[in-house]
Amino acid sequence: MITVFAMAAALWGIGALMKMPARARLYMIGLLYIGVLFVQIALPLGHPLRMATGESAALWILIGVFAAVAVLYGRVIKGLKDRALVKEGANAPPVTRGDNFSASELERYARHIVLREIGGPGQKALRDAKVLVIGAGGLGAPALQYLAAAGVGTIGVMDDDVVENANLQRQVIHRDQDIGMPKVFSAQAAMMAQNPYVEVRPYHRRLTEAVAADLVGEYDLLLDGTDNFESRYLANRVAVEAGKPLISGALSQWEGQISVFDTGSGTPCYQCIFPEAPAAGLAPSCAEAGVIGPLPGVIGSMMAVEAIKVITGAGQALRGEMLIYDALWGETRKIALKRREECPICGERQS
Ligand code: ZN
Repeated sequence: MITVFAMAAALWGIGALMKMPARARLYMIGLLYIGVLFVQIALPLGHPLRMATGESAALWILIGVFAAVAVLYGRVIKGLKDRALVKEGANAPPVTRGDNFSASELERYARHIVLREIGGPGQKALRDAKVLVIGAGGLGAPALQYLAAAGVGTIGVMDDDVVENANLQRQVIHRDQDIGMPKVFSAQAAMMAQNPYVEVRPYHRRLTEAVAADLVGEYDLLLDGTDNFESRYLANRVAVEAGKPLISGALSQWEGQISVFDTGSGTPCYQCIFPEAPAAGLAPSCAEAGVIGPLPGVIGSMMAVEAIKVITGAGQALRGEMLIYDALWGETRKIALKRREECPICGERQS
């Protein structure tokens, strides 16, 4: 029996060395368990293999039942935690803030405060702002880093992925040692290390219908850096319903685009511009088509700039406009966006 436990431990250890996800390692141990059970049931009593693996099938079945109960219990607890995470928004205690900035904060944000368009009131607006970033990947990584550095007081980050080796060519908020870790926690650690004066709320989950409205209601502004149309349409719909501006970025290969969708200001929503998702295969993902590493850095940083402009009222945000950056030829262009009257989300003649 000890031999079997040693084998299980070895499988786990080798899996860890090969950076296999925990789930794959558990499957391997599951297979080992089924093998042992088979030996116990199929071989006659006294068979050396059966003797070596613990002699009795009953004991192994009992262990199996215990393991199943433990897994089930873990799942239930995780489900409850997920729900609590969304309800309360955070596992980090809220940062307590006075009315005034500390000397250290004043020094930190001095380069903002001297800007005529931001100044003290703008920096205070940033501190009081709550921004939800959907996606902690290519676009989310630089956006999150700059929002935290700029002193945006409350930053929510939502993503259900874990950091993978192939992300690190462009997702600079995550590090090699974070491989296998949920992106939201890796991003949270990086942001807190960069600026302890902000509060980061990680949501390790996908944006779903069930939580979208409640969650978006807690924030002033949304940044969409997701890579799938389902999440984009959902984020757009809840943003329009809640009357919150949505800053949306997208990438493909060498080209990026960014716009601020804010129907409250009479400008179009995301679905006015992209009425329906392209047919499968027509919009290949980064994994299929590739993307040049610094491009999400350019567009994600622009998303952070637009967020700061929307929060502080500085300049003119990209409402009703889309900025397109062609990295291959070093060109940018802007196109005007029009609202569609028959848009099912924001149109007056809703179909
Ligand atoms: Zn619309």
